[in-house]
Parts: sequence; C-alpha cells; structure tokens
Amino acid sequence: MISHITIRRLIIALCVTLTTFCGAEAKFTVVLDPGHGKEDHGAVGKISSEKDINLDVALKVGELIRKNMPDVKIVYTRDNDTFVTLQGRADIANKAKGDLFISIHTNSVDKKSKNYLTVHGASVYTLGFKRSSENLSVAMRENAVMKLERDYSTTYEGFDPSSTESYIIFEMSQNLHMDQSIEAANEIQKELVSTAGRYDRGVRQANFWVLFKTSMPAILVELDFICNPEMERFMNSKSGREKLATAIYNGFARYKSLADKRAGIASVPAKILAAPKDNVNEKVSEKQTLEVVPVDPPAKEPATECDDTPIIYKVQFYTSGSKLPANSPKLKGISDAEFYRDGGGVKYTTGNFLTEQDAKKRLAEVRKKFPDAFIIKTLGGKRIK
Ligand SMILES: [Zn+2]
Repeated sequence: MISHITIRRLIIALCVTLTTFCGAEAKFTVVLDPGHGKEDHGAVGKISSEKDINLDVALKVGELIRKNMPDVKIVYTRDNDTFVTLQGRADIANKAKGDLFISIHTNSVDKKSKNYLTVHGASVYTLGFKRSSENLSVAMRENAVMKLERDYSTTYEGFDPSSTESYIIFEMSQNLHMDQSIEAANEIQKELVSTAGRYDRGVRQANFWVLFKTSMPAILVELDFICNPEMERFMNSKSGREKLATAIYNGFARYKSLADKRAGIASVPAKILAAPKDNVNEKVSEKQTLEVVPVDPPAKEPATECDDTPIIYKVQFYTSGSKLPANSPKLKGISDAEFYRDGGGVKYTTGNFLTEQDAKKRLAEVRKKFPDAFIIKTLGGKRIK
C-alpha cells in the first residue's frame, strides 16, 4: 500500500521533472545563418568576399548571445567556410525548431551602377510581397546561389532564381510569422543605425528562399555594401565587425524580451551592450591594398536607388476610379492583379516580366478577357515611357 506521503513525494517528483523538462523545452533557439560559403563567395569587393564577413559577424553575434543570454540555444547553419545550400539552411533551422532565423549578408549593386562606389547603408528584410524592383534584384542576387547546385530545379521545385515570373510562388504562400519577423527586423534595423552607425535603408520586404522555407519568424540582414570601398573597410575592420555584431545582438535581445512577454514567459531581459569603441590605428587585413583610414559613420544623405534596377514589363488591363477588393468580379479572376495610382485612377496590372517578349505572351492571354489590355514599362515601381 502506498502512503499519502509517498503519493505526495511522487507528485512533487513529477512536478519537478515536468518543470525541468518544460524549462528545457522553453529555451529559445536562435538560428544564425551566415550567407554563402566556400566556392560561393557571395558579393565580392576589392579586399574581401561577402562569405567571410557574414561568417565572422555571425560568430561574433553567437559569442555575445552565449555570454549574455544563457537561456538561448544557438544553432549555426555553418560555423566555418563550407557550402550549405539554401534549402539545406532552411532544413537545419526547421529541424532545430528555431524560434528566430537570422540570415546575415553583405549587399552590393551591379558593377555598371553609377553608385557602385558610393551606395551605402544597412537594411533588414522580411519575406514579403510589397514589390519593388530594387528589392527584387537583391533577392535575385541572394537566391542565385541555387544555380551552383547541379540538381537545383528539382530541389527548388522548378523555381528559377533569375526569372521574375518564378517569384509568383511566394505570393501564393501564407506567411504565418509576418508580424514577429517584422518586429525582429525593426529591432535589429534600429540597432544597425544607432549602435553600428549604418545609414538607415529601412526594413524591407523581398522573396528570399531561406526566409520562404523556414517555418519560424525569419529575417535577412544586409549589413552594408561591399562594393563601396569605405563600407568594405568598415566591414573588414575588427571594430566594425564588433559594432555590427553588437547591433544584431542588441536587436535580438530586445526582440526576445518582447517574444517572451507575448508567450507569458517570465525572463530577465538580456543586457543591452554599448557600441564598441573605434580603433583608429587598426590595420584592416594583410590583403589590404587600399589606404587605411578611420571610418566615420556615413553621412545621413538620402540613399540613391540602385542603378541596376531592372525595367519590368507589366500588362495593364483595367482602370478603376477607386481601389477594388481583391476578389472583385471586375478583375475577372485575374488573381495576381496589382495596381498603381495614376492621375486619380487606380490602374490594374498583371505579371512582372524582364522582357517585352514575355509580357506579350501574357498580354495575349489577358486580351481574351480584357481586349484593350496593353503593356507598360516600369522602373522602381513607377511607370516610364
Ligand atoms: Zn549574400
């Protein structure tokens, strides 16, 4: 026969076990994803490759989290110079049941761009459908690594990273974690400006495969532009990397406090760190061929849009006096309709094509429903002649 005391002891033991178990389960898992690796250099500057900057900053972020946030488990998609596919990165994050996915990248623009040497600033991306040709070209560049895989079209379900049409698949998916992703992006973006002194290019949306396939709040950080020699030097300096890592850490710490509060978890907010000091005497690297000068935070000038923004062709098929509901019968079942406002009217378009030829194919289909449809050219979301 079991006595009352034994039963009570059993209950206590069970409660302790459950608490310990649940406590372990409640640990917050952050997945750090340094973009590119090994033969995939990512964007390349004069003295460095994106893959090395991404890795070092990610490791530094991990180190700060390890020191300051004992209740956080850190998972890296890579912690050395190896190649991991985009799908492989998402798989690692999903298997780890991450609570937040942070992909770390370095930006660039096309060599032919007028602002190749001057473009600068940090931005944090979430997956999203707000279209902008500039954001599309960043996503295209970051997704292009798929093509290094022999069997990429099978792995990525026929997705072609260089075709604007392919990006439609993203729009058919629901993003369950949008609000939290934007919250994390906002926190980190603010820190990249205040702690790391980056020019603020804002939180943006674009369709990156790693954000699409990770089933958790997910963001992609573009630290700054490697094509701008001054920014490249900053990202290759020890103090620059420490500032960037501190900024990401601080933003993450703030986000986690918010996430814990939302989940009803009583946690002690992690320490917010001060910006690391500049070291004006620092030599940047042995490979350095440029004159080393201390890097000041960039001037707060308006960002120039990238000149490599492609011209996008669309099929315009309907004009309305006011915005229509998405399922309006007036759109005759064109499900990917977009609109822009022009001269008081709301103009509806379908498709985003890099060539007029592709747009013509779509035009032929659309004309079956809207005989007066025609092709327009757009640049950076604006119609051009
Ligand atoms: Zn990248």
